[in-house]
Amino acid sequence: MPHLPRTVTSPKKFIIGSGILKELHEYIKDFGDNALLLCDEFILERVTQNTLPYLHMAGLKGKAEKFNCECTDAEIKRVMGIMDEVSANVIVGIGGGKTLDTAKAVAFYKKIPVIIFPTIASTDAPCTALTVIYKEGGAFDRYLYLPQNPDVVIADTSIIAQAPVRFFAAGVGDALATYFEARACYAVDGVNLVLKRPSRTGMGLAQLCYQVLQENVECAMDAVRNKITTPALEQVIEATIYLSGVGAESGGLAAAHAINNGMSVVPDLHKAQHGEKVAFGLLTQLVLENAPKHEFDEVIRIMKIVGLPLTLQDMGLVNFVEAEWRKAAEIACDKHDTMQNMPKKVTPEAVYQAIIAANSLAERYK
Ligand SMILES: [Zn+2]
Repeated sequence: MPHLPRTVTSPKKFIIGSGILKELHEYIKDFGDNALLLCDEFILERVTQNTLPYLHMAGLKGKAEKFNCECTDAEIKRVMGIMDEVSANVIVGIGGGKTLDTAKAVAFYKKIPVIIFPTIASTDAPCTALTVIYKEGGAFDRYLYLPQNPDVVIADTSIIAQAPVRFFAAGVGDALATYFEARACYAVDGVNLVLKRPSRTGMGLAQLCYQVLQENVECAMDAVRNKITTPALEQVIEATIYLSGVGAESGGLAAAHAINNGMSVVPDLHKAQHGEKVAFGLLTQLVLENAPKHEFDEVIRIMKIVGLPLTLQDMGLVNFVEAEWRKAAEIACDKHDTMQNMPKKVTPEAVYQAIIAANSLAERYK
């Protein structure tokens, strides 16, 4: 598609540091003077104690509101109603991916700025211009593509370091695939996440993402295990929250995420984290590419350091049902999915066989 332009899209500002909850007003005041802070339940009290008093001292208005657990149309509407009641002109999402997605959707519908404050680093949700909407009861409903990335994304390392290690590891899994998927997309001059062509900058950010993980992941794990913050942890969080999200959006995705999407039809894997499935999808992509041994060695080294599951069994698979995996391979090759960014045409048969090969390879490395 030679007529498509290339893009770099990103949040306006990315802030990383520790103890930022008390300084949130510093970032809010650039975008509005009356903030609704949509919070996960576990952090609501801390926001009420640590953020609101300083916000008021700075001459701004603010209200903290508990997020109701699921990003549905009803929840988006409810939050919009509260915004109207208190005449808020900026929204701050503080919590996990669904909370952030709800805040992004509310900002879009109300045409107001949004500040994103992730409390875990498990996915690319914070930086991207996308909200995933679910039905009541938790089934996937639809993607809401947003015209803009969030205005500000704030990564507070002191809070993210407190989250369970498994979420942190999943974020590394998601970030680990970024370079390899962008590389494939760039090689084929494919389509990135905003449906334009990948830019050299997007490719560069994806490369940096991988490099930062390679250099820092061991020391970052020491920090996460002890719930403390170190420079290595800060660099890895910059990679998992910013570089991975922006690198994927501007650089494009490929087989790893398409295979993750396919895996949604395997019931045994419903409890697996997004980043865990993406990491296995990456191994499958490397099999499809017949990647050199040193790339498998390095990817698996990182997966082992953070404690990501290596095999399908590690991820929760009890029985390998051929029909399920044939279906997964078929979905992964959907003509609208990112498998289309692979340099060679990939068939469902090839994906099915590569999944089995990747699993066997992972067992060998255990
Ligand atoms: Zn992802």
